[in-house]
Amino acid sequence: MSILREGIGEILTEFELLLEKATDFHGETCPGIVMGTRMTIAGLRELGMDPHTKTHDLIVYAEVDRCAVDAIQAITGVTLGRRSLKLMNYGIFAATFIDTGSGKAVRVSFLPPWPDQIQGMMEFGKTVRNAPEEEIFRIQEVSVTIPPEEKPGFPTRKNRCVRCGEQIMDGKEEILDQAPVCKKCAHGPYYGTV
Ligand SMILES: [Zn+2]
Ligand SMILES: [Zn+2]
Repeated sequence: MSILREGIGEILTEFELLLEKATDFHGETCPGIVMGTRMTIAGLRELGMDPHTKTHDLIVYAEVDRCAVDAIQAITGVTLGRRSLKLMNYGIFAATFIDTGSGKAVRVSFLPPWPDQIQGMMEFGKTVRNAPEEEIFRIQEVSVTIPPEEKPGFPTRKNRCVRCGEQIMDGKEEILDQAPVCKKCAHGPYYGTV
């Protein structure tokens, strides 16, 4: 499919158009952005969704916090703040696209066709751009149950930490001695105080 961009007279393929969107958001073209664009195209196609039409029915679980996820965000409009983007950080270039309307879910993961560490960046970039989809991606239909406290919309639960007094949303508290405690008070914070 090609689309004529008005006023410029430039004909871009659908892939190029979406890649441009992802590149603008990310700030540069890199292999990760190309990969994320292709992952998004594959995931949405399997769900029967149009990448040019934003929908509130889409929720994406990303399995890495790297470049590819910026492409997913830029093209689909999912965001962490709207709770339509979830980070399940396995350190794997993979994402699951869920149509909450139909309940259908498709996981797209990147499977490099070469042994680890051998391919240089240039070669990597070329492969990610040009390799046939079935050679570099695994596409599986999966099932995902999104817990009620993870769904978009108003918080289902609020609580207050008995140790620090801060408010805890969405059931993220732990119960210690029958009282709600936030994760940082329960396990120690990621920061130190100065
Ligand atoms: Zn990048
Ligand atoms: Zn606390």
